[in-house]
Amino acid sequence: MRTPDSSRALAFARARHAARRWVDTYRPIGKLHPAICTQCGASEWRGRWRWGEAPPDLAPVICPACSRMRDNAPAHMVELSGGLPRWWSEVRGIVANVERAEVREHPMERVMRIEVGDDRVRIPTTGLHVARRLVAALVRRFRRDVRVRFDEGVTTIEW
Ligand SMILES: [Zn+2]
Repeated sequence: MRTPDSSRALAFARARHAARRWVDTYRPIGKLHPAICTQCGASEWRGRWRWGEAPPDLAPVICPACSRMRDNAPAHMVELSGGLPRWWSEVRGIVANVERAEVREHPMERVMRIEVGDDRVRIPTTGLHVARRLVAALVRRFRRDVRVRFDEGVTTIEW
């Protein structure tokens, strides 16, 4: 069974909506404090995380993305299953490209260690937005050859 376009569009709209409402529980609540991550070197000032030059004397912290990686606590999981092996090397390339582009702009949006199992591949991410980008890129490439299901905490793509 294929997902009709209209219901797929609806599912995407819902997922987009959920991503906008999403609150990263690994981010400190309240006022943002200028800080620099001692693990990855990303710094947060003027309200967002960035790479590169940072003002001096920022408070040393472990950033939310590094904390999630340390705790093995993904913000979201993208699960790939079905007739994937045929496409895996291409899919892996797409995942790498999306991550590279995303993390350059948004240091907290990373792909964690990918688990390649016998019947599925699990791609944990440190943020919801990179997960959404991944799903969008894969669906754009494979269109009607995949089925997508959005659940709380996990998006499944089946070939
Ligand atoms: Zn970090």
